Amino acid sequence: MNILEMNHIKKKFDEKTVLKDISLSVKEGEVVSIIGPSGSGKSTLLRCATFLERADDGDISYCGEEVVKSQTGIAIYPEKKIIREAQQNFGLVFQNFNLFPHYSVLKNITDAPICNQKRAKYEVFKEARELLKKVGLEDKENAYPCELSGGQQQRVAIARALALKPKMLFFDEPTSALDPEITAGILRVMKGLAEEKMTMVVVTHEIEFAKAVSDRVVFMDGGVIVEEGTPEEVIDAPKNQRTQEFLKKLG
Ligand code: ADP
Ligand code: MG
Repeated sequence: MNILEMNHIKKKFDEKTVLKDISLSVKEGEVVSIIGPSGSGKSTLLRCATFLERADDGDISYCGEEVVKSQTGIAIYPEKKIIREAQQNFGLVFQNFNLFPHYSVLKNITDAPICNQKRAKYEVFKEARELLKKVGLEDKENAYPCELSGGQQQRVAIARALALKPKMLFFDEPTSALDPEITAGILRVMKGLAEEKMTMVVVTHEIEFAKAVSDRVVFMDGGVIVEEGTPEEVIDAPKNQRTQEFLKKLG
């Protein structure tokens, strides 16, 4: 089953076309890495997939349920309530962690499951502590974000996303604000999630990670998917010249 299906997504900012007819599907349990130069539209694609940005045209479905439908060249969006329901399907992890600064680690993780999902407190707290253990922060539940390193904050952000029990996770350059040695720890957590068959879409510059963890690699440039395939196909033996040049520059 496809958890996410996006078809013929188009997006302009003013007169600049940022996504030119992009189609991307993600199957249950699949890990898809999106690579490509800065400005190629990777974040915009993720923001359209997660309804933080509206596509101009195209279709978007989650778990076979159509949320956005193209009609005569325009993307038709449903009411906010339907969008919010669709957003229950996924979790999001950004480059800058985006934790609530005035909430403790535990409250950052438990707030949405308790307040939005109306789940039982004892169960949410129990699971939050298990998640903190999973990301290696079991001793930090009472800390505030400002007391944590960037890597620790990102671990909390991952635990927070998982606490909502999403069917899939989106990551937008989760390690690009972090030092290399810290990055390795975050990538290990993500690798663990991949091994547990978490469905994930990861925008990343970490080519070794993409190679080791992804089922599929998508190379974007200039608002189009230039090439996609297995890591062996796209990273080890890219067919397209633009992919070859991009990978060469990364070294
Ligand atoms: P990437 O994530 O691959 O670096 P982005 O999706 O962030 O690329 O950006 C693609 C293009 O869209 C860039 O030229 C960027 O300047 C432009 N862009 C992104 N967001 C906006 C916005 N909110 N308003 C205007 N232009 C934007
Ligand atoms: Mg980006």
